[in-house]
Order: sequence, then C-alpha cells, then structure tokens
Amino acid sequence: MQLIDGKSLANRVQGDVAKGVEKLKQEKNIVPGLAVILIGDDPASHAYVKMKAKACEKVGFYSITHNMPDTISQSEIIATIEMMNQNPRIDGILVQLPLPKHVDTDMILEVIAPHKDVDGFHPFNVGRLVTGLDGFVACTPLGVMKMFEAYDIDLEGKDVCVVGASNIVGKPMSSLLLNANATVTTTHIYTKDLKSHTLAADIVIVGVGVPSLIKEDMVRDGAIVIDIGINRIEDGSLVGDVDFHSVSKKCSFITPVPGGVGPMTIAMLLSNTLKSARKREI
Ligand code: NAD
Repeated sequence: MQLIDGKSLANRVQGDVAKGVEKLKQEKNIVPGLAVILIGDDPASHAYVKMKAKACEKVGFYSITHNMPDTISQSEIIATIEMMNQNPRIDGILVQLPLPKHVDTDMILEVIAPHKDVDGFHPFNVGRLVTGLDGFVACTPLGVMKMFEAYDIDLEGKDVCVVGASNIVGKPMSSLLLNANATVTTTHIYTKDLKSHTLAADIVIVGVGVPSLIKEDMVRDGAIVIDIGINRIEDGSLVGDVDFHSVSKKCSFITPVPGGVGPMTIAMLLSNTLKSARKREI
C-alpha cells in the first residue's frame, strides 16, 4: 500500500504558485488578489478562512477578508461581491460556505463574475467543466486530479465509483473523471446497494461526511481509495469517510485524513487564483 501524501504535494504546488507569482510581478507588475467573504461565526468556516489567508500570504498574494455578521442581508452580500467584481486588484472571489439560512446560496454564487470564480461554483464554469472546456474547476476535485497526475495513476478506461454527489464535491469530481475517459458511477444517499458499486470499482472516491462509511468489505484488493470526507469525532480528532485502518490493508493507494485531500484544496485555490491573475487585462 502506498500513501498519497497530500501535504507534501500541496507544498510542492504552493511552491510552484509562489514562483509563478514572482514571475508575474516581474514581468507584468501584477500581484494576484483573492477576496474572501465570510459570514457568521461558524468556527470551522473561520478556521478554513484563516488557513486560506495564511496560504495567500505565503505565496505572495494580496488578500482581503470581508467578515460579516450572520444577520447581514442578502442585498448587502451581493453589493460586496459586486464591489469585488469591479476591484481591479482582485482576481478571485470566494464566498465561504455554508451561508446562513436566510441567504439564497445559489443566487449569491451566481453574482460572482465567472472570470473571478476561483471556487468554480458558478453555473458558467460548471457548464464549461461538463462540456470539457477550460474554466475554473472546484478546488477539492481538482486537487484529487492533481494527486492522480502526481502519482502516475492512469484513469483512462478505469472503473471509478464516486460516493457523494454534491455540487461542490461529487458532481464536479465525476465530470473531471469522465473528461479523463474513466467509466464513472456516481452514488449517493438514495443508491440502493452502495457496496456492489464500490466493490466493482478500480478506484473509489468518497466525499460524503459519514465517518467510516467505507469499510474493508466494500473495496476490492488493490483498489485505489481517495477519502475526501472530513469529520470531527467525539474525541476531537479528524477522520475521513473511510475506515482507514482496515481499508488501507487492501489498497494499492490511499489518502489519509488529515494530510490527504484537505491540503490540496487550498493549494488548488491558490493555483486557480494565479490562473485568473495571469489573464488579468492591464
Ligand atoms: P453534502 O452534504 O453537500 O453532500 C453529501 C453527499 O453524500 C450527498 O450527495 C449525499 O447524497 C451523499 N450521502 C450522504 N450519506 C450517504 C450515504 N450513507 N451513502 C452514500 N451517499 C451518501 O456534503 P459535501 O459538502 O459534498 O461534503 C462531503 C464531505 O466532504 C464532508 O465530510 C466535507 O467535510 C468534506 N469536504 C472536504 C473537503 C476537503 O477539502 N477535503 C472539501 C469539501 C468537503
């Protein structure tokens, strides 16, 4: 079994982004800029935004965080996004999810200018992904693709089972795999016999939010298992959606939690923001 080390790979990607930032500064006098909109007091969201801001600083980005109370109106959030759409120093806009219940998330995400949508959630970019055109792709599934590339894992013709079908994880993951010529089965909470699908797969990718959903008897010998899940359990520790201890014994490759897909998500956010800055018109 080989561990896919997301932490080291993410550091490598961040190093490449930092070099790209330096080059862009020298050649075009452009400093990539990321705006983060954070609403409410959710501790996990605050922790993620803090990590993103720190990563921005490390690679030499300009970054700003708009911290708003959860009583903020939808129109005030829209006004802030529109201001960022117009701000020439900003190349990427990220709205930290989840949003408070009174806010229409789909509507908010559509206000972000598609060319600054570094999270890849705008329907414009989702449509480009599905049709195989260049655009911004959601950071977590993009990070998983980067892992496959880094570990020379060929996807063409492989049977891949994606467990979880959310707009931010499972669906873009399935589209990317299909674009890479894999045979993709997307499963979700209504799937009748999950085990029959995971057992038939060469590669199992799980992003659900249920600790230890994937057990030893659900994967075949030599399978590749990618665990996107992040769950905080009672003792305070972080675990994925895969029962790592037992499943890892059967795998050819597996990602740990923490230290697997998680760090890749931030690295791909930086990479998407640099990509946007390179297209900035000056
Ligand atoms: P979500 O709740 O939006 O979607 C969960 C999906 O899992 C749904 O499609 C649902 O149908 C499916 N599902 C739920 N229970 C299931 C079951 N028992 N069997 C099969 N399918 C089931 O969640 P999300 O935002 O997509 O996040 C999923 C997980 O990924 C969470 O643990 C989240 O913390 C994690 N996540 C990690 C990163 C990262 O950077 N590593 C990024 C985003 C999300």
